[in-house]
Amino acid sequence: GATLTRIGKRFGAVQLFDGFDLSVGDGEFVVVVGPSGCGKSTLLRLVAGLESPDEGTIHIGARRIDRLPPGERGVAMVFQSYALYPQMTVAQNIGFPLRMAGRPRAAIERAVARACDMLGLSDLAGRRPAQLSGGQRQRVAIGRAIVREPDLFLFDEPLSNLDAGLRARMRREFAELHARLGTTTIYVTHDQAEAMALADRIVLLRDGGIEQHGTPEELYHRPASLFAARFFGQPA
Ligand code: ATP
Ligand code: MG
Repeated sequence: GATLTRIGKRFGAVQLFDGFDLSVGDGEFVVVVGPSGCGKSTLLRLVAGLESPDEGTIHIGARRIDRLPPGERGVAMVFQSYALYPQMTVAQNIGFPLRMAGRPRAAIERAVARACDMLGLSDLAGRRPAQLSGGQRQRVAIGRAIVREPDLFLFDEPLSNLDAGLRARMRREFAELHARLGTTTIYVTHDQAEAMALADRIVLLRDGGIEQHGTPEELYHRPASLFAARFFGQPA
């Protein structure tokens, strides 16, 4: 699992996080929701090492990661805009992190084939990103995260660029992938249906703090505030 302890993060005069704690269990799928600007992306970026906390610690299991460079944290992040390398094929895009890590060619090919199989990309392995649909591109970005076999997945609104039908299908694919790999996951979304469908636990953020957290059922049936009710349940 992952543990954030007393995280502080300031941008200029604005103290976004102050004494922020979050603990994600081993294999748990946590979905983070909350209004625009509440700190969802920054939370992921702190864990990934794309931002540094001013205070506090971040652990994965017993390993402290907040001082490590991003590549050594055992974390893989997928963004809303899944920047693929346009000149590379699907297989090359997926294998890229392993090539950078200096893995032997045969091992890379095996890992890429396995990821392609898992994501239904085997027939598309030789194509370039421009020849793919939005959903297929997003699958490539996920494949690139999978091959690294991270201890923790971070997803920042990975489906928000897709149309509604594709989003529903990809949502099922995320659920299947998680059932298969069991990797601890922090997943940010604006989409309530996505949160309800995927989460073991939902964390509702408000201004850099946790407003409420619990199972989807708990947040839906027992919102602790009007703010939470507006997100999930019915106002009392
Ligand atoms: P959205 O739902 O719109 O993606 P979010 O919850 O992901 O929003 P963040 O991107 O984490 O929000 O931003 C949280 C706050 O921190 C915002 O007020 C934002 O302007 C500020 N912020 C984030 N990154 C920086 C930065 N590099 N420099 C200055 N302010 C920043
Ligand atoms: Mg964001």
